[in-house]
Amino acid sequence: MEKLLNEISTCCQPAYDISCDINIEINIPSNLQRCSSLHFPNITESDLLRHFTNLSRNNYALSTTFYPLGSCTMKHNPLISEQVARHYRFNQIHPYQDELTIQGNLEIMYKLEQDLCAISGMDYFTLQPAAGAHGELTGLLIIAKYFETIKQKRTTVIIPDSAHGTNPSSAMLAGFNVITLDSTHDGQINIDKLKQLLNENVAAIMLTVPNTLGVFEKNILTITELAHNNGTIMYYDGANLNAIVGIIKPGDLGFDIMHINLHKTFAAPHGGGGPGSGPVGVKKFLEPFLPIPRIINNKTHFVFNYEKHQSIGKIKAFFGNFPVILKSYVYIKLLGAEGLINSTKQAVLNANYMLAKLRDNIDVPGGHKCLHEFVLSLKSILKNGVKTVDVAKRLLDYGYYAPTIYFPLIVEESIMMEPTETESKQTLDKFIEIFKIIIFKEMLDESDKIKCAPHTTIVRRLDEVIAARNPVLRW
Ligand SMILES: *Cc1c(COP(=O)(O)O)cnc(C)c1O
Repeated sequence: MEKLLNEISTCCQPAYDISCDINIEINIPSNLQRCSSLHFPNITESDLLRHFTNLSRNNYALSTTFYPLGSCTMKHNPLISEQVARHYRFNQIHPYQDELTIQGNLEIMYKLEQDLCAISGMDYFTLQPAAGAHGELTGLLIIAKYFETIKQKRTTVIIPDSAHGTNPSSAMLAGFNVITLDSTHDGQINIDKLKQLLNENVAAIMLTVPNTLGVFEKNILTITELAHNNGTIMYYDGANLNAIVGIIKPGDLGFDIMHINLHKTFAAPHGGGGPGSGPVGVKKFLEPFLPIPRIINNKTHFVFNYEKHQSIGKIKAFFGNFPVILKSYVYIKLLGAEGLINSTKQAVLNANYMLAKLRDNIDVPGGHKCLHEFVLSLKSILKNGVKTVDVAKRLLDYGYYAPTIYFPLIVEESIMMEPTETESKQTLDKFIEIFKIIIFKEMLDESDKIKCAPHTTIVRRLDEVIAARNPVLRW
């Protein structure tokens, strides 16, 4: 890693090299200069340290607890990525610097695009979108522009009812109408219904594979063929890519365009709404529409190319969330091809281990095997007025972050667990034991305790409607 850091960082020249010149003279116009001196509170270092440490203790974090939040892939993020992202040669770069002084940054972005192509089977990537949902919007704008260019009027996008809520929102925002496709009872795409819905109006089908039940779509090749015969574009929501990295590629399955959540699959910390990165990959025929600028390698150096007249334009200020891009690049290089495949296998093994320990007494709509995550339906075991939300809140009392609940919408009283590959068998065993105590013991003997949970957290049970409508965002 030291070698990698040396290699990449020597090509990045911060506007000011703070290692050799800490007395930088900066000429700020006098009208922009402060008139009075700044007043910082006069407190001791230990008081400051305690203030921030205590604040951090009020929060849930992966550094203190297991975080089985299905769909979100809350895995441990290697600290080395943080160290690299904080290196002054990266964090002192300014986006307005001349390209020639940031060749190392451009090279990293260029190489990450190539790595994502190799992993996904796409031909080109842009790193600009700031999150998964933003990637979806970018992808759908590309699809709209493509049909505009070939002069076809296609106005609808088909999305399964198991999809993440951002899929229909992004499609609407990009100007499409959404047609919802009902899933079969085991969460698969209903091929007969799909055939009925396909016509010359359908621009795209958006699929999450494996789907939000953690199950691989059995008929995926039939679906992509049906779409292509209809001139319809296949969009891959890559939020669950961590289940298949190194095993199969969306490009090989027939997908034409996709996004990847770097902050899920490629280990950049996230939570509380950011920071993220949602690169979009396309097959060759969609390349002309990618956002500008494109990074190109003109043999002597890397440059930004703005000369693309069919591009959808810019979709984010500057060039993407660079620190997240950097962390994912380090993660991919650190693990290498073999390490990435091992991560995938371990993630799938961990999820199946948990599922195997829970499935005998609880309904599993997706079946008895899963990929990287699984969904349980607690409906048939809930007793004494307890709801799934109460079970999730009670887990907080035992020091766990609550799993995802009530998603996907097609499963009643659903609870979705994703252990990720970075958790040990001991951690999983302990969690399974506590979960079983709550649902098989406390629910019978102490249901009121569950219904009023949590009891041990800084903030107790919230009225969720009021909390969502009138959030108090400060202490
Ligand atoms: C997380 C997720 C998204 C949205 O990604 P963000 O980065 O949160 O915007 C879309 N689809 C699925 C299936 C997801 O899990």
